[in-house]
Amino acid sequence: MMWRLLFVAALTAIGLSAMTAYAQRAPFRVLAFYSTHEEADHVEFAKEALQFYGNLAKKDHFVFDSTTQWSDLNAATLGQYQVVLWLDASPVEKQQREAFQNYMEHGGAWMGFHAAGYNDGSTNWPWFVKFLGAVFYGNSWPPLPAQIIVEDSRNPVTRGLPAKFTSPANEWYSWWPNPRANKNIKVLLTLDPANYPLGMKDTLSAGDIPVAWTNTRYRMIYMNMGHGDKIFTSPTQNLLFENALLCLGGGRR
Ligand code: ZN
Repeated sequence: MMWRLLFVAALTAIGLSAMTAYAQRAPFRVLAFYSTHEEADHVEFAKEALQFYGNLAKKDHFVFDSTTQWSDLNAATLGQYQVVLWLDASPVEKQQREAFQNYMEHGGAWMGFHAAGYNDGSTNWPWFVKFLGAVFYGNSWPPLPAQIIVEDSRNPVTRGLPAKFTSPANEWYSWWPNPRANKNIKVLLTLDPANYPLGMKDTLSAGDIPVAWTNTRYRMIYMNMGHGDKIFTSPTQNLLFENALLCLGGGRR
């Protein structure tokens, strides 16, 4: 355990962008949390994500497990995993939240998709608001593809991506405060203003709207993609999803 703690401490100190220099040799272990009780498009995404990352686990040689039991957010279970994924859902129980908070404060890694980052006045989890660096403000509807700006193609998470790409149909969120206002947040992807107005029933019509980012105080990445059954249809975006997990796991070479 100690070597891992030291390794994680080193990663945390140098930040996400330099992780490749410390590529971990042993297979890392990933636990994906999801729920079958969320809205249908979110459950659909979660199931496709399980398939996508299950296939990557064979190709990239990491261990990939999944659970619908949010009570698995406990110290004993989390201690067996280097990375936790939240596929369009998040914990509501105090104990589970505290176990996750403790895991992240001690070098655990997290990637959350879409509704995993949803939080508002009713969520009552101030720590998570600081961790994510943003509060849900609005959304686009119906799900539509969008043009995405890659902010820093030298970051290992976005390496190999073009300066802009089309992300498949998704429900896009906006945030207030803007995560970019937080000095610890590094924005990786942003909605191209050329998309506006984006949506029909609900429309995003202006502004700087980050789509993916990391809070550099933690080993974490948030991705706003994750609504419906089109998310994994873009090889470019799939590379992003692969890069992101391998960076968090320390396996990107
Ligand atoms: Zn959604």
